[in-house]
Amino acid sequence: MIWKVKIPLKIACFTWLLANQAALTQHNLMKRGMQICSRCWFCECEVETINHLFLHCREVAKLWQIFINLRGISWTMPRNIKEALACWNRDGNQSGHRERWKIVPACIWWSIWMERNQRWFKNKSCSMQNLKLNCMVLFFFWCKHEYPQDAEDIPSILEFL
Ligand SMILES: [Zn+2]
Repeated sequence: MIWKVKIPLKIACFTWLLANQAALTQHNLMKRGMQICSRCWFCECEVETINHLFLHCREVAKLWQIFINLRGISWTMPRNIKEALACWNRDGNQSGHRERWKIVPACIWWSIWMERNQRWFKNKSCSMQNLKLNCMVLFFFWCKHEYPQDAEDIPSILEFL
């Protein structure tokens, strides 16, 4: 599910870490003995676990919603990363561009992780609107890199998601 998706190797490795609950979220750092008061950098309400930060946070849900709305599917977020990947790929087999659809989770997760690191380590944040835009631009560049023959511009890629 992870290594066959056409994304940069670094991102595939990051996705693998998420699927194995091994990325260094605050919750995982606390389990390793680091003393921090964990809070999600997006909703500021919940402990920053992998499943919260990347799947269940109400703020992060806005990124998922972009792609879910474009495809017009109904979607209930699964419990963990592995289930989310399996369900996402299964639902993506029904119509549209299957290979592009499989890129979406890694694109969302990488966008979240980059923004979370900016907020934590550089004390900088961008608006949710800009985060959505960044995520779509990233998605476009990965699609364009992997499928240059059919990726002309962002609207056409999103139209035929
Ligand atoms: Zn949150």
